Amino acid sequence: MNILDFTSIDNLKRTSGEICSKGWGEANGGNISIRLTGEELAHFQEHQSAEKEHSLPYAVPELAGDCFLVTGTGVFFRNISTSPEESLGIVRINSKGDGYSMMWGYDGGGQPTSELTAHLLSHGVRKRVSSGRDQVIIHTHTTNLIALSFVLPLSTPVVTRELWEMMSECLLLFPDGIGVMEWMVPGSLEIGLATSQLMEKHRLVLWAHHGILGTGPNMEQVFGLIETADKAAEMLLKVMAAGGKRQAISADQLKKLAKAFNVDPLKEAID
Ligand SMILES: [Zn+2]
Repeated sequence: MNILDFTSIDNLKRTSGEICSKGWGEANGGNISIRLTGEELAHFQEHQSAEKEHSLPYAVPELAGDCFLVTGTGVFFRNISTSPEESLGIVRINSKGDGYSMMWGYDGGGQPTSELTAHLLSHGVRKRVSSGRDQVIIHTHTTNLIALSFVLPLSTPVVTRELWEMMSECLLLFPDGIGVMEWMVPGSLEIGLATSQLMEKHRLVLWAHHGILGTGPNMEQVFGLIETADKAAEMLLKVMAAGGKRQAISADQLKKLAKAFNVDPLKEAID
């Protein structure tokens, strides 16, 4: 099986193109990781890496032996589809979960994204809480959600509720809300730990004045989740610019909606 024919590589190429067309993929902004499964994972099981092992700043034993397709550091999303071997790579986590080896890609001396720690810590949490279902993490610079982080209080229930009120779809797509974090230094262990803590409860995490992280079982669903949240943020900014809300979906209406579609909305955001 040729690695360049992996479905996960195809999906990543397509999604990075969509991110660029949204205007979220400026320069080297954003990073994506996918936990490989099935045939794609099996491909690496007999291989040994020729590269030396790299240590992680924090062990993630949940991911021992797992392989991830990860965008490289400094990579421009707009170049991924034309130069996947330089832009992408596959890493395998060691048996203790405290180091990784590069198994494929990063041609020309590249290495995984500087946000690898945040990705792996979050994958560890999501693998556990979703019973292995969530495999994809996208971090991208969503224009409207970033703008909103300058005008709303940096509070999970407040931001969640404001987005839910913008259109019915929001509560149905992210009843677990959007976890909100203060600005932190990108690439640090601290931002990784804080993100993974919020990932215990939320599939969307907003990094104030920076961007969003989303997770889910596949690329399409994660992109859809992020796209929906950013569209709601765009509408909220327009409503604010037009003088503010005169009416909105009420708490009672949100509860009716949740009941009708059998979803369990984040309690702090609805009461
Ligand atoms: Zn970023």
